[in-house]
Formats: sequence, C-alpha cells, structure tokens
Amino acid sequence: MRNHGFICATCGVQYPSSESPPEHCAICEDERQYVPIEGQQWTTPSELAAGHSNLFRHMAPGLTAIGTVPHFAIGQRAFLLRTPAGNVLWDCLTLLDEATIEIIEGLGGLDAIVLSHPHYFSTMAEWGQAFDCPVYVHAADRDWVTVPDARIEFWEGESREILPGIDVYRLGGHFPGASVLHWPEHEILLTGDTLLITPDRMASFMWSYPNNIPLDAGTVESIAQRLRPLAFDSAYSAFWGREILIDAKHVIEESAQRHCRALRGQPNVST
Ligand SMILES: [Zn+2]
Ligand SMILES: [Zn+2]
Repeated sequence: MRNHGFICATCGVQYPSSESPPEHCAICEDERQYVPIEGQQWTTPSELAAGHSNLFRHMAPGLTAIGTVPHFAIGQRAFLLRTPAGNVLWDCLTLLDEATIEIIEGLGGLDAIVLSHPHYFSTMAEWGQAFDCPVYVHAADRDWVTVPDARIEFWEGESREILPGIDVYRLGGHFPGASVLHWPEHEILLTGDTLLITPDRMASFMWSYPNNIPLDAGTVESIAQRLRPLAFDSAYSAFWGREILIDAKHVIEESAQRHCRALRGQPNVST
C-alpha cells in the first residue's frame, strides 16, 4: 500500500502516514539543512503530483538523469543506470507518479536503488515498493531513515558491489555514510553532494551546502585518498549542470588540494 504520509516541503523527505503533519522535520532542523523563515512547511504526495512532473534527460550512454519540474525542495536529480547486469537508481526523488513508474518499467524497471545520504531519502521506501527492489543505505546513516521498510538494506564497511560492475563507496564527510557510486566500465563517478561539482567545474567538500560550512582539511584529504584507487573520467553531482565531463579524477584531486589550501590560509591564486 502506498504511504500517504506528509512530505517536508523544504527537504522533500516523507514521514509515516499520520492524520496531521509531524511537529518537526529532523533533517531540516539539523545544522546541515534549515527550516525556512516562515516555519516548517508540509505537503502531500497527491498535492505534489498535482503540480509537478519528472523529466528524463540523456546524460551519457546508459545514463539518464531524472529531475522534478518545477523545482521542488532541495531540487536534486536522480540517475538511472542501465547496465548488462540490471538497472540501478542512484539517489531518489520525492515525486513518484504513474508516468515515472511506466517510463522506468518500460526501460526495464529497477534492480536496486542506492542512496548517497539522508538529504535525498525522499520517498525511497515507496520507490522500493513500486519497483520491488532493495534500497541501499549506509548503516552509519540508519538513524535518519524516516519511513522504515523491509526493502531498505543497510550496508556496512567502505564499499559494496550493488550489481556486477556497479559499486558504492563510503567517503564520509557530509554525513558519516555519505557515498559515491562508481561505474568503472563507463569511467563514471556519481557524487550526490558527498562532493559537489562547482560552477567552475571543480569540486567542493562541504559539511553543509545551504549554510556553507566546509569540511575540515583532514576529512577532505581522507576523501581524496579514498577516491585515488578509482578510475573515472567524468563525475556527475546532484544538480543540473554540475558535472565534470573530462579528466574528472585529476580535477577532483586538484579541488581537494585547493580546498585544503584555503582552510590552511595558503594563497590560492598565483601573484
Ligand atoms: Zn525537512
Ligand atoms: Zn546533502
């Protein structure tokens, strides 16, 4: 049965079915997010579906980005990866309407859903039910799950094979379980906002993106180190236009150094 629980209008995360909206959204009250000045706002799945749709955009062979229009909540995009071993959805969207289900079913359905971190938990339990597939969340972020579901699989450790040729890696930082998805055959890294691609097509490493609170240099060095063994050429983050299409591995390494230089008070520009 579909969950008709209230949805936080600021982060897009759903809560269990209830007569009246919850008092608080734990995700928005955390320092990494925010409660708007007008106070906590709620919506419902039917209200959301009445005014929004999902659009699908080809990004690279086998890689389709999905986003909700007009803008809703955080505004992240999800990615559908079509591989010989099956289809994977990276991150998730709050809006799951019939059109979205029919289109994805037409493309072969989903074999797994993988979440980078709690800001995109959205209606992930509903997606898992609709496509009858496991929903992978790192165990370190278990306490942020708002709607428990038997399909949510908490993975542990530093990496996990999702399907042959698709692996998730925990980098930490933004959240203890913050992760990236690696598709070695296509040399693609999907970053969520575990690291965010910036307008100058480099990367930033923040603890809070809306509030601009950076990660410390030690954590960023550890993220860079964890990425070093992975081969990739392009990197796609959670937002439209925020991607690096060539030489992403080198650019992200350089971005980590830039971030650490800034935190240490070392000059970033040559004079
Ligand atoms: Zn919220
Ligand atoms: Zn986030």
